[in-house]
Amino acid sequence: MLKQNYPLLVGLLLTLSTAAIAAEKPQNFTRADLAAASTLRERALVDSTAFALVESLTTEVGPRPAGSPGDKAGVVWALREMRRLGFANVRTLEAVVPHWERGEADFQVLSPFPQSMPSLALGGSVGTGNAGIEADGVMVKDLEALAALPPGAVKDKIVFFSNRMERTRDGSGYGKAVPVRAAGPSAAAALGAAAIVIRSISTSDSRFPHTGALRYTNAAPRIPALAISNPDADALVRQFESGKPVRVKLKSSSRDLPPMRSANVIGEIPGTDLANEIVILGAHLDSWDPGVGALDDGAGVAIMMGVAKLIHDLDARPRRTIRVVLFANEEFGTSGSQAYLAANEAEAARHVLGFEADFGAGPVWRLSSRVDPKQLPVVEQIFRALAPLKLARGDNEARGGADLEGLGKLGMPILSPDLDGTNYFDVHHTANDTLAQVDPQALRQSVAAFATAVWLGAQYSGSWERVTTDKPPRR
Ligand SMILES: [Zn+2]
Repeated sequence: MLKQNYPLLVGLLLTLSTAAIAAEKPQNFTRADLAAASTLRERALVDSTAFALVESLTTEVGPRPAGSPGDKAGVVWALREMRRLGFANVRTLEAVVPHWERGEADFQVLSPFPQSMPSLALGGSVGTGNAGIEADGVMVKDLEALAALPPGAVKDKIVFFSNRMERTRDGSGYGKAVPVRAAGPSAAAALGAAAIVIRSISTSDSRFPHTGALRYTNAAPRIPALAISNPDADALVRQFESGKPVRVKLKSSSRDLPPMRSANVIGEIPGTDLANEIVILGAHLDSWDPGVGALDDGAGVAIMMGVAKLIHDLDARPRRTIRVVLFANEEFGTSGSQAYLAANEAEAARHVLGFEADFGAGPVWRLSSRVDPKQLPVVEQIFRALAPLKLARGDNEARGGADLEGLGKLGMPILSPDLDGTNYFDVHHTANDTLAQVDPQALRQSVAAFATAVWLGAQYSGSWERVTTDKPPRR
């Protein structure tokens, strides 16, 4: 008997001591606010608003690359849906976006063992002209290996970057691998290369290649750049390892067109006594073109709109204004968030707390933050309100995402319910980024985590301090 009752007794003592500690703490949230947080969390777990939104966006609009007809249709869709959901102050904020057309890509290994491999141009790549480019191949692992080659080693050659991205839950593998995609073309061109081919920045074992933006510098000629999938990259590595000369040919009809007008789409749940303070919920409306942008970032759009809708439907009103911003053109230079920052320069400090969802459809597995260290106990209390979702507690070096980076640099605190990225890069920026990749239950759980944290962030009884550290956030 005694043995059986012992855990109960310890549990009771722990409860009493936890209650005693809690009583000493400043009251960061009212009892009603904490109760509303539970209500939101429970409603979110059975709510299908977010899934219906990503279904509608991917079905009715489809791919949304900057400057395309899909980009325009996405803006119209977002305005319509925000109004339908009952958001206030629904409006657009214009952003000028680059307009690049992918065209067709073709990649052939001519020797030693002829093979055709599916390929995609990297975003922004110049085309090759009709004749294509045929040259000897040079294989290097990454940018460091390229820089270590003897002078002239890649002159007039096609450079193949073979490095494989590592699978991680927090996406850190992407951050390590992606410099080849962004900087590889100009780095190789500066050494005289004619073109480059990269192993997709992807963890997939499918033959869907992965696209994404490159960044030409003005110091080197602009050379074409394609990506091939992991299995094809493996096959190409084996061809190089045969020791025989490798000759390849690539062709791409990519081209630049004049910049276009697009827009960020904004909607709000107005605050009450602290309405002047903004809790910003960011996601991006654009996508790459091979898929329909379900995970990147239709899911993020849906999560943020789903969160705002649940808060809108509460009996209570938020104290601070909750502003959903669906940014234009995150993928190809973040011109949407730059336009937002420029338009809100004088009001940057009114953005007191930021959330961003740009890492797939969940589930959320961790709560990270970037707040003034003095306010970590507030984050801790928000974390406790998330307890039924069984999250891990992350560090205080959260980044948010690319679209909130500018506001973050200006000192805006970030709360980051971290989406699980373990399988995200199997699909990200590929033709396989479709609705089939969105797990409705994981999406609901993500909405639950975000809704709880957003609500409590908007209700916090103190004021959110600016973040003053110079230490850059974790990538
Ligand atoms: Zn994205």
